[in-house]
Amino acid sequence: MSRNIYNTHRIYVIILGMKTLVTKIKDLFTKDTAGEGESPKLLFVLRILFISIAVYSLINAIGFAITGFPEAVICYAAVLIVYAFLFYRSYHSSTFSLVISSNIISLGGIVTGFVMFGPSVSIQSFFIVIVVACYFSGYGYYKIKGIYTVAVFLLYFVVESFSSMVIPRIAIPLTGQFCLTLMNISTSFWCVAIICYVYSKDSQHLEGKLIEYNKILRQQASTDTLTGLHNRRSANDYIAKLIKKNDEKGFCVCMCDIDFFKKVNDSYGHDIGDMVLAGVAQTLVENVTEDCLVSRWGGEEFLIIFPNMNGDEARAIVDTIRARIKKIEFDTGSRKFNITVTYGLAEYGFDGNVDAVVKEADDKLYIGKENGRDQIVF
Ligand code: GH3
Ligand code: MG
Ligand code: MG
Repeated sequence: MSRNIYNTHRIYVIILGMKTLVTKIKDLFTKDTAGEGESPKLLFVLRILFISIAVYSLINAIGFAITGFPEAVICYAAVLIVYAFLFYRSYHSSTFSLVISSNIISLGGIVTGFVMFGPSVSIQSFFIVIVVACYFSGYGYYKIKGIYTVAVFLLYFVVESFSSMVIPRIAIPLTGQFCLTLMNISTSFWCVAIICYVYSKDSQHLEGKLIEYNKILRQQASTDTLTGLHNRRSANDYIAKLIKKNDEKGFCVCMCDIDFFKKVNDSYGHDIGDMVLAGVAQTLVENVTEDCLVSRWGGEEFLIIFPNMNGDEARAIVDTIRARIKKIEFDTGSRKFNITVTYGLAEYGFDGNVDAVVKEADDKLYIGKENGRDQIVF
């Protein structure tokens, strides 16, 4: 029993130790530099790249030490020291100076490696890493980045063109060449992949969020908050769309205005007024067909748009709406009351004018108000 507890305790201590180690390693890559306003993402990528090249150099140095190539060991030991130093400097220097110095060192390193080992070990693949890294090493400066890309391309081109004339200073056997080629290609692929992963992960996440926010924003810009209906702008857009669509039957619009709404507010308060607005809005939406658009045109005015309908068809729907709204019993808690609405219905006159059809409906509404309210004027 006690042995079991002892074993569990040991496992727990090991897990805790591993967790602390992982956190410490993570800190090594994410710790801020001494400078201010630096990009933590760029710093993270630079450190990963420096460590990757250092590890790559260490493996190569060990490999050459075992196979007996002291010159190659010195070369890779030098690269290891330089990149380990760059990693160390990443806690103290600005990312700008790190980017500049690492680029100069890398370009020099690739050309030296090319002269030392010849063209057959694919050391040139690191040119691609340099170009990719340059585009992610800061915002803007696209002209400079473009010029730098051309310069790296030219260097790459010259190196490749003269490759047949290069006699390697260090002649390594075929198996050695195979291993070094593998190291060069895999390390350069890893470097490109890590840069693209870090940046694409974030940008895709941000793009997703942006699309979501845009959707919410667009919805907010076209919605009335109190009733949840479309707002005036959205209604105008819809009419414009219908005019453009030019359906054979055309469309109708109906302007609706609550009768004596001011009295509702004055008698029962603004909150009850709001409740009435929401109730009317809901009844309108519930009684129109799916392709109709119900909007809050202003205070207690609503505009319904009936696409692909003539006046008689729309009138039948408005009749139902009128009857239903009259029947709604609004409850203040202490009293119940009903309201009526006056409606002005107009058919689109195929004149391509958004305002004209709305004005006609509004004029008819006014006539309805004049003639005693609670009616449909068509
Ligand atoms: P009519 O029959 O001629 O249309 O008379 P009315 O009282 O309905 O019209 P009037 O234009 O005199 O008053 C409209 C009132 O609607 C005045 C305004 O305070 C109220 N109102 C406008 N927007 C809102 C709102 O969002 N909530 C509430 N509770 N009241 C509103
Ligand atoms: Mg009114
Ligand atoms: Mg009004």
